[in-house]
Amino acid sequence: MNTESFASRHIGPRGENIKEMLNDVGVESLGQLIYETIPDDIKLTEKLNLPSPLTEFEFSNHIQSLALKNKVFKSYIGLGYHQAILPAVIQRNVFENPGWYTAYTPYQAEIAQGRLEALLNFQTMVSDLTGMELANASLLDESTAAAEAMTLLFAVRSREQKKNKVVKFFVGENVLPQTLALLETRAEPLDVELVVGSYDKFDFDESYFGALVQYSGKYGEVYDFEEFTKKAKDNQIKVAVAADLLSLVLLEAPGKWGVDVVVGTTQRFGIPLGYGGPHAAYFATKEEYKRNIPGRIIGVTKDMDDNTSLRMALQTREQHIKRDKATSNICTAQVLLAVMAGMYAVYHGPKGLKYIASQIHKKTVSLAEGIEKLGFFQVNDLYFDTILVKADAEKIKALAERKGINFFYPDAESISISLNETTSIDDVNEILSLFEEISEKEIEAIKELKDGIIDHSQLKRESEFLTHDVFNSYHSETELMRYIKRLERKDLALNHSMISLGSCTMKLNAASEMLPLSNPQWGNIHPFVPKNQALGYQEILKNLEDYLTEITGFSATSLQPNSGAQGEYAGLMVIRAYHKSRNESHRDICLVPSSAHGTNPASAVMAGMKVVVVKATDQGNIDIDDLTAKAEKHSDNLAALMVTYPSTHGVFESDIRKITALIHEHGGQVYMDGANMNAQVGLTSPGRIGADVCHLNLHKTFAIPHGGGGPGVGPICVAKQLAPFLPNNPLIETGGTEAISSISAAPFGSAFVCLISYAYIRMLGEEGLRESTEYAILNANYIQARLKGHYKTLYSGEKGRAAHEMIIDCRDFKDFGIEVKDIAKRLIDYGFHSPTVSFPVAGTMMIEPTESESKAELDRFCDAMISIKQEIEQCDKNEPSNVLKNAPHTIAMLTAETWEFDYSRQTAAFPLPFVAENKFWPATRRVDEAYGDRNLTCTCAPMEAYL
Ligand SMILES: *Cc1c(COP(=O)(O)O)cnc(C)c1O
Repeated sequence: MNTESFASRHIGPRGENIKEMLNDVGVESLGQLIYETIPDDIKLTEKLNLPSPLTEFEFSNHIQSLALKNKVFKSYIGLGYHQAILPAVIQRNVFENPGWYTAYTPYQAEIAQGRLEALLNFQTMVSDLTGMELANASLLDESTAAAEAMTLLFAVRSREQKKNKVVKFFVGENVLPQTLALLETRAEPLDVELVVGSYDKFDFDESYFGALVQYSGKYGEVYDFEEFTKKAKDNQIKVAVAADLLSLVLLEAPGKWGVDVVVGTTQRFGIPLGYGGPHAAYFATKEEYKRNIPGRIIGVTKDMDDNTSLRMALQTREQHIKRDKATSNICTAQVLLAVMAGMYAVYHGPKGLKYIASQIHKKTVSLAEGIEKLGFFQVNDLYFDTILVKADAEKIKALAERKGINFFYPDAESISISLNETTSIDDVNEILSLFEEISEKEIEAIKELKDGIIDHSQLKRESEFLTHDVFNSYHSETELMRYIKRLERKDLALNHSMISLGSCTMKLNAASEMLPLSNPQWGNIHPFVPKNQALGYQEILKNLEDYLTEITGFSATSLQPNSGAQGEYAGLMVIRAYHKSRNESHRDICLVPSSAHGTNPASAVMAGMKVVVVKATDQGNIDIDDLTAKAEKHSDNLAALMVTYPSTHGVFESDIRKITALIHEHGGQVYMDGANMNAQVGLTSPGRIGADVCHLNLHKTFAIPHGGGGPGVGPICVAKQLAPFLPNNPLIETGGTEAISSISAAPFGSAFVCLISYAYIRMLGEEGLRESTEYAILNANYIQARLKGHYKTLYSGEKGRAAHEMIIDCRDFKDFGIEVKDIAKRLIDYGFHSPTVSFPVAGTMMIEPTESESKAELDRFCDAMISIKQEIEQCDKNEPSNVLKNAPHTIAMLTAETWEFDYSRQTAAFPLPFVAENKFWPATRRVDEAYGDRNLTCTCAPMEAYL
């Protein structure tokens, strides 16, 4: 074995262990297991054509040489992206720390109190600065947030006024171009009519349901929308504002005007530009819309001992419950980036933020005055950080680029200049020198900054913000370092033990894959720089697209969608455009199996399709009879089938090729949800099974860490007939020849983290990727074998094999009074994160170990599960208190004066010998979900509330 190969680090099982595992599974070889697992007619006949693997050392040299192909200019482009300073203490202790970046969405609140608190800080920061009652825990990007605002207002208004449908949405002409593009994408299938215009000429006509305006407009002008909001409200028009969050430190909060939604990005709160993302967008609104808010909301509740604790609130409004009635398809969001942005506010506090914002503002005013002195016309009356100068753009551009400077040039006579946190007085003078050169005049260099102009305007911020203790306590590095550590210790991430969340693929996120993200040559590239400044990125993104195209057996790839669910939406919009191009726009039926992930029906509805549910058989497969009947019934209008493969039940359905052929016969396209691609790579492919388009979750199969619930990347890979329709971007050329408009704000989505998947593929190569799939399947089947006789596996393939995950049935335990949730909580006492609970079947657990776990870890997990099974059998359904119902057990319970339970403290906290070596103490007892929903609090409550 080549011990230097990355595959030997990435894949868990080794040597002798593998033989034992195969033996327990009951096969002679890995080959035999794969033979028995994957149907013959879908196996790949040729090896994937990918470059040969690099060692970790070779890769680090390779990526460095590519990094040097990027030219890091000073970018004053603005348009929603500004270079910022990531405080080193946050970079090292959060961004580069697996304790933070390898965690999953906080499904198990008791072992996620750290990131829940960090997200509550984020929500508090957003709601304070925007002046709104409620904020969510991040969205994918500013433009997506704006589109979500439009759909929320549309849904709310349609509900309020059932009759004469009001469909027009006003968009201020100063809205960012990428936001307008997204609104166009989203509006079309909903039959919403966008009208773009100047806000001060808007006639408040009753045919509008809502409006979106930008506060600092795209070229920097700040308008007062108070009157506008008032008039809109008088005419039942709801108002959304896209606002620059940092500017709100100085400018009055839009909440003051009574607007309905405020959205924007928190990128400039310390997050690297990363060529477009990932960054955390924010979404803030009124309490009355709480059931319609997209994404996750963190809320305060109490635990079994009445202590304050946190969890995700109002789960019932999410797509996984509401499915085709959902108002949004957001699942993965931008948790890690939200945590970082929140920490930035914690570190700087209100005074620090005021200082940063005032400095930027004063430098901008000084620059404007200098430029005016040189005789140029500066257009903006009131501005925060951006000025618009009338001058010969071509001349300025040539001079600027020679000096390594980017501005934005709206037209031949205009230059838009946005300053940021990194801009120094020297930088301001450097910019002035360019204007001196073309004006052939000189002025004295700026030594002292001018006063700001916002302070003398009626938009000066009067309201207080970030008054809570958390924003006023950790301003030294020692204090913040310890605060971050204190939170981190409350969370169970992959650096503690395996997280076997089915469908989520919690594999290794290797350090060598992550390291390049710390390099400013990758971090400091603005998404709208000319492509020739981002040649390193262009090479990686192009190659990554090609690799993914090869792996899926398709013809082209778009990296733009920034989550799996956005991929679903993108794929369906591409299918929609395809049908339209063939004059078949009437095709709008989307068949979705009953077992599908909740985002599938939600995405279909967003894409303007009607969902028709297809039944599953008792074995968990698609019911072919039902599918045939529905395909025939809707033959004339069939748009697509959405199918997950292997199925969400963890089975390679052997009829899959029949299924895809049937859909094609009826004129539909096949969308494959690629969340389970970890069971396919190198062995079969979406192309091979006859699908037409799929998304991949790079944050599942291709090693991007989950970051506690984001970032993600959800590229779509498509067959030849769909390639022309891949999405574009209004500023940077990308996408197909007949491209649909944008799916996400940045031209290449979350390009920054694509480096991780690129690294993963380059270091594994064809063989390593294929082996990863094989070992993922072995590990799952090994767990199935070990749990046999203790737990019932719900479904398996024809030869009794699991795919890369399996479902165990826990419904029978109600005879002992035990629910699946009790098992999830009891696993915490053993030091494990629960598998996925009640998806896709209520009352079950879905276990996915991934290839990265060793036999030793799998054994510990199985020992824990088996031990829990024995505990269940001791339970009596008439006895409300037992070791499962009281789980998880905290150290406070264990060390309390009294111990009132009829099992020992030892049993409670150290049920198996291995537990003591690596004990994880939950920060809270079991949380009360319902209490928090009844008493919704989604910001850091005043301190009295905690007493
Ligand atoms: C994770 C998942 C999705 C959604 O992907 P996100 O990246 O969270 O948006 C869709 N379908 C299935 C089966 C999944 O497991």
